[in-house]
Amino acid sequence: MQITIDSKSGFCFGVINAIRISEDELGKNKIACLGDIVHNSREVERLKKRGLQIITHNDLSEWSGKKVLIRAHGEPPTTYQTAKQLDVEIIDATCPIVLKLQERIKKSYYEMNDLNGQVVIYGKEGHAEVVALMGQTKGTAVLVTGVKDIDKIDFSKPVRLYSQTTKDPVKYAEIGELILTRMQTVNGINADFKQFNTICGQMAGRAPLLTAFAKEHKVIIFVGGDKSSNAVALFSVCKAANGSSYFVSDAAQLQREWFDGIDDVGISGATSTPTWLMEEVGEAIKKMNKD
Ligand code: SF4
Repeated sequence: MQITIDSKSGFCFGVINAIRISEDELGKNKIACLGDIVHNSREVERLKKRGLQIITHNDLSEWSGKKVLIRAHGEPPTTYQTAKQLDVEIIDATCPIVLKLQERIKKSYYEMNDLNGQVVIYGKEGHAEVVALMGQTKGTAVLVTGVKDIDKIDFSKPVRLYSQTTKDPVKYAEIGELILTRMQTVNGINADFKQFNTICGQMAGRAPLLTAFAKEHKVIIFVGGDKSSNAVALFSVCKAANGSSYFVSDAAQLQREWFDGIDDVGISGATSTPTWLMEEVGEAIKKMNKD
């Protein structure tokens, strides 16, 4: 059995950075992370064993005078205000790309206030990054989770459209075209619409590489956390390129029949999947085919 781990898969630099910051602090100080540091339960478990505590916003009051890490997805301004009031020391591991997006959205929020327009965000409802982005507009942005939501937009008014960093670029382009067409039916060529390319290059660049990798192997095992938007999006890329693609969170979910008569398996993962977990899955496949 030939098993190949996709060398282009695994943690993006935003997640590597957040984990590095947490590991630097662990051992020196008691530290908590606001929400799961990465959408991968096995990696979260590994860091918990090293002493990292995972807390919610409701727990912040118990961390007065102590350190709390903000993960790569970022937080809305209200979290920073609450931490200040409670004397919680923030260690900010917000990904620099997300931070830049937050700043751009905040700028558009003020611009749209002046022009009586709307900031529109394409993203997943309730996702931490999206909550933080919405917070830059004091919760006033129109959240579009898909084509079904675009009627929430007032097409007679200016629009500045942004995307969550891990969304599918093709779907984002479709949403933008649809909004512009609807605005032009109301305002003609005077439609004041701007769409910004805010999908992370680490994510957008992976789709074509993953398509090529998925086509090169007979079976693909995609390893990802079921809470990860990036994993869901990348798995759909895999499945489109190779029908024999399967999603697992860890080795326990592998099924022997996927490998019947197969001598070549490719293993890939999301930007939140640790390499050690893909290696563990590879070892389990080898063992399964020996037994
Ligand atoms: S996917 Fe991109 S934007 Fe999101 S944390 Fe990783 S590097 Fe940052």
